[in-house]
This record gives sequence, C-alpha cells and structure tokens, in this order.
Amino acid sequence: MSQISFFDQVNRNFDRAAALTDHSETLLSLIKQCNSVYHMTFPLKRDDGSIESIHAWRVEHSHHKQPTKGGIRFADAVNEDEVMALAALMSYKCAIVDVPFGGAKGGIRINRHNYSDRELERITRRYTFELVKKNFIGPGVDVPAPDFGTGPREMSWIADTYMAMVPGELNALGCVTGKPVAQGGIRGRTEATGRGVYFGVREACDVPEDMARLGLTVGLSGKRVIVQGLGNVGSHASQFLQDGGAIIVAVAEREGAVHNPDGLDVRALIAHRTATGSVANFPGSTYIARSLDALELPCDILVPAALENQITEENAPRIQAKIIAEGANGPTTSRASEMLAERGVLVIPDSYLNAGGVVVSYFEWLKNLSHVRFGRMERRFEESAYRGLLQAMESMTEKRLSEVEIRALAKGASEEDIVQSGLEDTMVDAYRQIRRIQHERKDCPDLRTASFVSAIDKIALCYSELGIFP
Ligand code: NAD
Repeated sequence: MSQISFFDQVNRNFDRAAALTDHSETLLSLIKQCNSVYHMTFPLKRDDGSIESIHAWRVEHSHHKQPTKGGIRFADAVNEDEVMALAALMSYKCAIVDVPFGGAKGGIRINRHNYSDRELERITRRYTFELVKKNFIGPGVDVPAPDFGTGPREMSWIADTYMAMVPGELNALGCVTGKPVAQGGIRGRTEATGRGVYFGVREACDVPEDMARLGLTVGLSGKRVIVQGLGNVGSHASQFLQDGGAIIVAVAEREGAVHNPDGLDVRALIAHRTATGSVANFPGSTYIARSLDALELPCDILVPAALENQITEENAPRIQAKIIAEGANGPTTSRASEMLAERGVLVIPDSYLNAGGVVVSYFEWLKNLSHVRFGRMERRFEESAYRGLLQAMESMTEKRLSEVEIRALAKGASEEDIVQSGLEDTMVDAYRQIRRIQHERKDCPDLRTASFVSAIDKIALCYSELGIFP
C-alpha cells in the first residue's frame, strides 16, 4: 500500500502536469489548495437507544466557479485527507469536461451496512442540517450528489431537509442532484457514470494508432474486460460494455470474484448477487476467494470501479490488462500509474473517465433551475416537422414508408435521448481534447497528465479572466 496520502497523490499528478504549463507558482498553488474544509461531529441516537458520535466532512476545493459540486460517500474509511483529495479531483474533473462548477466532496465515516434505514435517514438529515447551518449547501452554493454508499434515496432526504429549512427557495430542488425522477431528478442520471465509462473506453478503443501500439484490434468488440465493483458505476459500466460487444471475463466484489474466460452474463450475475448476496456459485464461473487476485487475470481492459488504491506498486507488475479504465476515483496509486505507463499500458484516468455522473448532474441542475423537463417544449413539434419532411419525400419519390419506419425516423427527442446525447458528446469531445494535449504538449507522458494540464489551463484562464492574475 502506498505511504503517501491520497491528497498528496492527487497533488503529485497536479505537479507533474503543472510543470508542463507556464503558469506562475502562486497561481498554481492557489488552484491546488482546498478553499474550505468543514469537519463536523454530531450525535446519533441509535435504534437501541445508545448514542454514537458521527464524524463527517464537506470540502469545497475550488470556488473559481460556483456552485461547487461533488458526491457524498458513506464509508468507514472516510477521513479529511480523502475528502480533500476527492474534492480536488472534482474541480479538475469538472474543468476537463467543461462543466461550470468548482469541485467539492462530502463524506460520513460510517459503514452503511451497520445501520438501519431509519438510522441512515437520521444521519443524512442531520448532516444536511449541519451543511445548511454553515452555508455549505444550496443551488448556487454547493450541490452534493451520490457517491460510494449513497444513492437517490439519500439525495431525496437531503433535498427534503433543505426545502424544510430554506422555505420559499424557488430553486431549492437544485440543492442536490442524483434525486429520484419523481423528486426533480433526471432520467439517465443513475447509470450516467457507467455510461460515461463506456463512451470513454469506446472512444479510446476507436483510435487506430493507440490500438496498434497496444497490439489490440480497433473497436470494443471482442475485448476481454475485468470489472472490480458491481455497484452503481461497475454494474452499469459492465452492462454497457457488454452491450457494446466486450466480453466480461471476471468480476471482483467485496466477498470474492468470479471468472469465466469465455464471458459472464453480467445481468444474470447482478441478479444472482441480488438474490443470494454474493457472486459466489454463479453458474459457469470459477470462484476466487481473494477478490483482488482477479485483477491480475488475463484481459485487455481492467475497469476498477470500487475503491481507491486498488492498483499499487505491489500488484501493478502483475496486472495483464493493456488498458486500465478508471471507473472509481483514485484506484491507481501515482507510483503504480508511473510503472504502468513505463510498460506502455494505456490508463484512461478517473479525472476524465468517471465524469459522466457530474455531467448528467449538471443537466439535472439545469432542469431544476429551468423548472421544465428537457424535450417537453419541442418533442411534439420535432415529431410533426420530421413527419412533414418524410411525407414530402414520399410524394417526391413515390415510395411509401411503413408506420414503424416513420415512427423510428420521426422521433422527437425525449429527456433521456437528450441526456444521453449530451453525455456522449461531452465524453467524446473531452477524450479528444486530452488525447490531443498528450500528443501536442512536449514531454506529456500519459493521459492523466494531459487531463490535469487541460484542467489547470481552464481554471487558470478563469482566474486570469477575473483579473486576479495576468
Ligand atoms: P457503490 O457503493 O454503488 O458501489 C461500490 C461497489 O464496490 C459495491 O458493490 C461494493 O460492494 C464494492 N466493493 C467494496 N469493496 C470492494 C472490494 N474490496 N473489492 C471489490 N468490490 C468492492 O459506489 P459507486 O457509486 O459505484 O462508486 C464506486 C467508485 O466510483 C468510487 O470510487 C466513487 O468515488 C466513484 N464514482 C462514483 C460516481 C457515481 O456517480 N456513483 C461518480 C464518479 C465516481
């Protein structure tokens, strides 16, 4: 396990990229530091009547754009350094994918499995209360979202608490994203990060020069993939990758891993785990008790989508994947990253690859501020305009289309269509940007450094436009 802290690792990546820019030291250190760090403790009355102290954090890393934005995680390893690191990653991530937010992150040090639903609700609502009290939440201030251990349910508790405490705030629903659709959420948010991982991996596999260098064929089809984590990011990423033609050969979860070199049916595996509570005994697979060992099995693409620090200098030499697609935040230590780069492994960095969640969160926030569902105003208009066009073409060509063909061609865009297309456009564009930087910027060793260069340049531009720095 690496000895340097997670925040130091993020800063090490930052420094490597900063050396390739010509911004002043003062500006660079201004960008790097965390603007506000809020550590709170509050009591929880447990269901059995006992009292426990809960430690929680919210960190706003950069106010160069506001509001700030970032998920809230529930995990027993949460600490201040981790939340600071993740908040910093959020600032860079938002800049890389051109989402106009500063970065933030929240964390509550609990193992959610040790608490009842009622206890989790009390913890989430009290945490929100503390954030409101210190002005660390609001549609124009700081907008949380789901992360490890949290989901739509926790987000709706946060929105509800915020609305109760800030009555009359017209845009109150925009205080948090990742909400259920019925409570101001947006269609496509739940699977957004996994879908974004898919778009990023697909884009990387579509570059002929890069695939030739790795000794791989162009395209996702037939590529063997190992996924770590079957949670929000991992389960959706693996389904989209499988649908895109990849073969999921192994899945590693907390209780162990399963392997089948001919491919696992991911949907069936998810159903099996939901039903039995474990990936073990999945028909047609070999069970591996030490889950981490599965990361070293033969494959083309490894998708760590669970926790940080999973690929370290200890196991990096044994990783066989030619592409590491970082679905999780910080899954590869900076030393392991260097070792992989030396071996020519293509690492698609977390700062870019798992940005799908924040991209669609941005769309959700826009929806909350505009108070209208995407597609509501134009969908029917588009449909009748396309139908008119098709009818004109039919009368010119004297050919008739079936109603099924007409319906497929004359489809107005729904909210989900718009979200998917906006996400795809963003992920494709950002991949091309960072790849271009890697190739154009002298001495840029890898995509991670290129993604940081992209973020640093954009944040620096923001400060210079404010007139703070020349
Ligand atoms: P999640 O809680 O939904 O899923 C995490 C999964 O990892 C769970 O299934 C858990 O059982 C599994 N896991 C835990 N320990 C493990 C271990 N030792 N080995 C293998 N699997 C293990 O969390 P998530 O939202 O999918 O987040 C996963 C990662 O992705 C985190 O690093 C998070 O910061 C990052 N991320 C999430 C989002 C999002 O939108 N949810 C966005 C960006 C980044």
